Amino acid sequence: MKLDLLAIAAHPDDVELTCGGTLLKMAGLGYKTGILDLTAGEMGTRGTPEIRAREATKAAKLLRVSWRGTLGVPDSDVQPSRQHKFRLASVIRELRPKTVILPYWEARHPDHYHASTLGYEGCFLAGLKQLPLEGEPHRPFKILYATAYAPVRPTFVVDITAEFERRRRAILAFASQFHPPKSESRRQFKKTNVFLAIDRLQDEMNQLARHCGEMIGVQYGEPFLVKELIQVHDVVNMDVRSI
Ligand SMILES: [Zn+2]
Repeated sequence: MKLDLLAIAAHPDDVELTCGGTLLKMAGLGYKTGILDLTAGEMGTRGTPEIRAREATKAAKLLRVSWRGTLGVPDSDVQPSRQHKFRLASVIRELRPKTVILPYWEARHPDHYHASTLGYEGCFLAGLKQLPLEGEPHRPFKILYATAYAPVRPTFVVDITAEFERRRRAILAFASQFHPPKSESRRQFKKTNVFLAIDRLQDEMNQLARHCGEMIGVQYGEPFLVKELIQVHDVVNMDVRSI
């Protein structure tokens, strides 16, 4: 399958939280989009990998992606190793995305910053003709870094006002992360205190998207950073008011 846009992240639900609205919006424009989860999220404190897989399928449907897959890297051990890079390069050769979204390269969780490096290097390797790897060489044209939750100024923001509600449902599809499982008592669940309460998550989600939206004068937005400059063809018709 050939994709226009592929979002790569460490754990199932990372993509939903950082660029789900943008994926949904691009699907609406007629682009073929996809999500590659590097791990199955098996170290997640809540739920099982099977539950997470079901949730990921549900979220993918909500975001209207054409493809979702798992690379099979062990959770909490995401590394830009040769083996993982080759595996990723072969997926890139198969899917041939024009644009790739990666996590921002600085983060608290090592899986997140390693996912950024692994993603970049896998995309680079995929284009090397001499690589001992099956498939036609392919290198994505553009790499965007999703900077939601990163304390950096984004290069641009995507207006996701129309997509916000559906993105919210896609995030909440990962219910096992936010609710106590039935077998566990509420008290026990409270005691472990490792979950992110669902109301707090929603608050954070709304605030962040609203803050990014404000930066470009719309209700909700998702922030991205690119390393290159952005070329402008028409300075008379540019978005976002200055004064
Ligand atoms: Zn994560």
